[in-house]
Amino acid sequence: MKLNGNFAKLKESYLFAEVASRAAAFAAKYPEAEIIKLGIGDVTLPICKAAVEAGKRAAEEMGNAETFRGYGPYEGYDFLREKIVEYYARRNVKLDLSEVFVSEGAKSDVSGILDLFDENAKVLVPDPVYPVYVDSNVMDGREIVYVGGNEKNGFLPLPSKDTRADIIYLCSPNNPTGAAYDRARLKAWVDKANELEAVILFDAAYEFFISDDNLPHSIYEIEGAEKCAVEICSLSKTAGFTGVRLGYMIIPKAIEGGKLNAMWLRRQSTKYNGASYIIQRMAEAVFTDEGMKQIKANVDAYKKNAALMSDTLKKLGIWHTGGINSPYIWLKCPGGDSWAFFDKLLNEAQIVGTPGAGFGLNGEGYFRLTAFNTFENTSKAMERLKKLKM
Ligand code: PLP
Repeated sequence: MKLNGNFAKLKESYLFAEVASRAAAFAAKYPEAEIIKLGIGDVTLPICKAAVEAGKRAAEEMGNAETFRGYGPYEGYDFLREKIVEYYARRNVKLDLSEVFVSEGAKSDVSGILDLFDENAKVLVPDPVYPVYVDSNVMDGREIVYVGGNEKNGFLPLPSKDTRADIIYLCSPNNPTGAAYDRARLKAWVDKANELEAVILFDAAYEFFISDDNLPHSIYEIEGAEKCAVEICSLSKTAGFTGVRLGYMIIPKAIEGGKLNAMWLRRQSTKYNGASYIIQRMAEAVFTDEGMKQIKANVDAYKKNAALMSDTLKKLGIWHTGGINSPYIWLKCPGGDSWAFFDKLLNEAQIVGTPGAGFGLNGEGYFRLTAFNTFENTSKAMERLKKLKM
């Protein structure tokens, strides 16, 4: 068979499998141990009531001959897209309905959008970052260049005068570091992209976690972004939709005279048949005042955990970033090696986190903890951390 040879170039994705296997081996050896999981980036709180009720109503509609619906629009129902346009308007970002595309999640959007770009386009990816950007471009055979995040730049790398790329991925607030771009730094990327006639693929999956009022939630809060940036968003972490599935992508018509927007609609009408009606009704409810209040309560609960982790690390004198504007805490491993720190935390404190090495070369020496647990468990984990001999 003529298989896609690019798959052979993918690095073995053993990160979460290895984390799970080491944790399982420990649990098998010490069955009485109470392991606290602060590793996987999945939410733990249930879907908000407003969305659940909307989902029930929509399911009833589907079971009734008068209200049943079949295939929906490729780009999503207007009732939801209108809510998304209103959500952006609250930040003074003016969108046209035709610039909003609903999907079943951000992962498919950050990779699917690549269909619109040349296979020889050069891709720029910050390191460390969400591994999907790299792997989906490796599968397509594109050349990838990296910009390094580090302590000196606060894990918020900037373009230099030598930066050359056609596709630029940015993720803010970042997974795994939790670092978020301010306006000035984001403007540097927007200006660079416009200068290079490149596209920015801006992953804003964690925008709802931003606490600092001075930080932009959307790249369109930056002048000139409407000419170069596609924004990808998700209700996964915002509203606990990881198992429900709903995302949306903004493709401004000002990019390439509307060509990119038209190409995506053409692509979706070929490869996609629209997100579920029931889920879109649930998402619509998330954007109501009641829904917003309810999801904010959940996100605040995660942020309380993150604040506690950050406070504890500060007291212990451990360098870290993230937490304030994100569900992730990115800390410097005392001792350096991130897998050695993983083993130490597991063996001596029964805490499971994620070694930074799994997120790129610059991730080595660092470690990700997530706020997706109960306050009780997070507090217990932090008490154990305080007692740990580093
Ligand atoms: N983008 C980032 C940065 C993520 O961390 C994740 C999930 O962890 C996703 C996208 C995927 O989101 P979704 O569940 O909407 O596919």
